[in-house]
Amino acid sequence: MTVSSIHPSTPSCAHLETRAVHAGMEGVAESGSHVPPIDLSTTNPLPGIEAGGDSYENLATGGVLNPGDSAVYQRLWQPGVARFERALADLEGTEESVAFASGMAALSACLMAAVAAGTPHIVAVRPLYGGTDHVLATGLLGTSVTWATPDGIADAIRPNTGLVVLETPANPTLELIDIADAVAQAGSVPVLVDNTFASPVLQRPAEQGARLVLHSATKYLGGHGDVMGGVVATDDAWARRLRGLRALTGGLLHPFAAYLLHRGLRTLPIRVCAQQETAAELARRLQDHPAVRRVMYPGLPGQDPLGLLGRQLEGPGSLISLDLGDYDGAVRFTEACRLVSHAVSLGGVDSLVQHPASLTHRPVEADAKPNAGVVRLSVGLEHVDDLTDDLMAALDVAAGMRRETTDMLAR
Ligand SMILES: *Cc1c(COP(=O)(O)O)cnc(C)c1O
Repeated sequence: MTVSSIHPSTPSCAHLETRAVHAGMEGVAESGSHVPPIDLSTTNPLPGIEAGGDSYENLATGGVLNPGDSAVYQRLWQPGVARFERALADLEGTEESVAFASGMAALSACLMAAVAAGTPHIVAVRPLYGGTDHVLATGLLGTSVTWATPDGIADAIRPNTGLVVLETPANPTLELIDIADAVAQAGSVPVLVDNTFASPVLQRPAEQGARLVLHSATKYLGGHGDVMGGVVATDDAWARRLRGLRALTGGLLHPFAAYLLHRGLRTLPIRVCAQQETAAELARRLQDHPAVRRVMYPGLPGQDPLGLLGRQLEGPGSLISLDLGDYDGAVRFTEACRLVSHAVSLGGVDSLVQHPASLTHRPVEADAKPNAGVVRLSVGLEHVDDLTDDLMAALDVAAGMRRETTDMLAR
């Protein structure tokens, strides 16, 4: 089988790992390259006034580039971004995807689309990423919000509801929400699932009926902590709407960022699986430490009451939240980590720890804020025993069992 015969329209012809490596590469070999070229052109030659105008009209209203047409201007169409979009859509099992400068730019476009359609009311299920919560709570983009529990979505829907927004696994509690049930409750209202934590390797919300699947591509998709981006995987009609909005409002993904994200997808399945294996073992080990009041991890017994693991989510992933009792415990633990860096973000090759209540969830209203004793770990590709040593030593400090950790890197 040649590379170009693996086409997004026939995803069943290969396993996810294979598609992750080959998706979005159509035309690359034919152009004489082995990897996608990076085209930095902000403008493109026009074949003539009439044809140029037609291309402009098509692209500015959200159309896709027709073969032989001019891409006109980078804000309207960019070939490297389009390749990344095809690859991500292939992995999520959607018709298309639309990429943006960041996860928040992607979310903003979805909210603006709801407002533009005259349906500015949003039903949202907490907990959500702090930025998402904040933009909804403030109504900055002209939306209004009703906060709903996973069971209360149907009751919260109004005639002017434009979207249902949810996140599973949730941030930072890692609770799971039944997507198919949310979709059933939403009826004709499109459901947007933030799939950043699971990645398409572990969960493909479109298969459960979600109309919009959002990623902060900054996290697992990029995977190396060196590129920002966002993307919405969806159907043709929504993709057209979002591209039109992007062309007008300009929340563009840069061609070099698109290159890095496309490259990131090629190792996504192997990274997600390896990081998950380590996280599952760490979650088990950390439970036994006296400083830990509770380990939040969907793979632990009793933490998947709806039985969604294996049915909706293929594995528990590589994020773990620890309840260390109180703010002071969280501070002592975080400051004592050595191998694990204290930094925001997640999904990269190196392990990170952060304190949601004072960082990612800082703008969240007090009654929806995570408990001050909770820290969130993003488990990377380090050896499980090295991570265990570092985290156990930091937990000892949190519990007052030792004053300082040995600096294992200095040994
Ligand atoms: C980081 C994050 C976002 C926001 O994405 P940016 O790329 O930082 O704009 C949205 N949702 C989740 C779950 C995130 O982790």
